[in-house]
Amino acid sequence: MPAVVRRVWIFTAFSLFTTCFPTFAQRSQLKAPWNMYSPQTDIAEGRKFASQVEQQSTLCNDPKVDAYLTQLGKKLVAQLNTNGVEYPWEFRCVNDRSINAFALPGGFVFINRGAIEVADNESQLAGVMAHELSHVALRHGTAQASKASFAQGAAGIFGSIFGGSTGGALLTQGVSLGAGSALLHYSRSAETQADVMGTQVLYDSGYDPRAMAQFFEKLAQESKGKNPPEFFSDHPNPDHRLERVDEEVQKLGGTPPNARRDSQEFEAAKREVMTLPVPPKKTKAGTAPSPAANAPKGPPAVPSEKMAAYQSQGFSLSYPDNWKQFGGDNNGATFGPEGGVVNDGSGHGALAYGLTIGTTPAQGNSNSDANSLDSATQQVINSLQQSYPNMKITRQPQAVKLNNQPALSTYVSNDSPGGGAETDWLITIMRPEGLVYFVCTAPQNDFQNYHKTFAAILDSVRFHN
Ligand SMILES: [Zn+2]
Repeated sequence: MPAVVRRVWIFTAFSLFTTCFPTFAQRSQLKAPWNMYSPQTDIAEGRKFASQVEQQSTLCNDPKVDAYLTQLGKKLVAQLNTNGVEYPWEFRCVNDRSINAFALPGGFVFINRGAIEVADNESQLAGVMAHELSHVALRHGTAQASKASFAQGAAGIFGSIFGGSTGGALLTQGVSLGAGSALLHYSRSAETQADVMGTQVLYDSGYDPRAMAQFFEKLAQESKGKNPPEFFSDHPNPDHRLERVDEEVQKLGGTPPNARRDSQEFEAAKREVMTLPVPPKKTKAGTAPSPAANAPKGPPAVPSEKMAAYQSQGFSLSYPDNWKQFGGDNNGATFGPEGGVVNDGSGHGALAYGLTIGTTPAQGNSNSDANSLDSATQQVINSLQQSYPNMKITRQPQAVKLNNQPALSTYVSNDSPGGGAETDWLITIMRPEGLVYFVCTAPQNDFQNYHKTFAAILDSVRFHN
């Protein structure tokens, strides 16, 4: 679901009685977009991906610079609303002169020396960092992955994005920064959120709240007529970027007269990186999947009638014993045949055959409330339709039972990652942890052959509480 930046104007009875004073608009409230993963998954997968980044790029490996970035980063983190999640926060300088900075889910922040070298003062560097930290706090990377993986199968997309232990094509394709960077291509609405929250963090840390916008302005000016800096390919410019930041600065009450702009520590760190030798440019490994991984493998083997058992904290089920489990955590899992994950044409693996189970936080008054099941299901379908314009509901939600509890059964059609159309049979059910969904996926012309298998798996589902 695209993040909606809500401007909350609060007019209370209080303000009615104090109309002789100017009424300031409140700062914008930011709501993290829909996310099917847990913050613990952000940390675990971000950490794995960070160690790949460390292997595939050349770090500055300068303890003074890393220590400076860490103390500046932590000062900003102290003003960051992470919704109560404690992230491990690691800050590293990358020995790369292109102007960029990026943060992986879970708080692994990489800042190119180029960004430090081009910043005029500490507040500008703090501005880029505050923007990155906001992406972490709002969990934009895994929100993006959630949108992508919901219809296509969690293991496929998730596995290729994070290089997790998924099978088949993904392993031969190898883990790559190319695939991984899908996590870092933010939507424009995510950019606006990170700009607004970053501006608030700057303000709350005592920095000039316009410094982030100034830095972006400077990048845009300096790159006129040239290739835009790498930063803008990961962080696309939303419309009216600077105006939106200025609006937020006004809501915060303007730039404080004593706002901090620079420090000796910044100047020392900048001098330090400028003296580092420039490493030879590395090519980003594995940006294109090998032809072998792309080659069609034919349909997977017929599902076995013998079943294997799966147990998680929340539920158990049985699945054909010639299928594999492609990763999973307390909130979900994915099952499919060998060869059920195919390359979707953009270097990402996607589930063409199999079952994905996930949980999404749902708004509703009561978990047993039929209305909340309806509306949560509708919300999920709406957000899918925004991500997949070709997705169509082929059978409207119908009441069914899953493990003897009320559930909804919906059929949709969508583009199959292997080409042609696919059928997705979606079962949704309210559980104390949120809306739990089961997505049974197969190419449309093969779906009937899988229907019995999907039904057998669904029949075997037992919730533990
Ligand atoms: Zn961004």
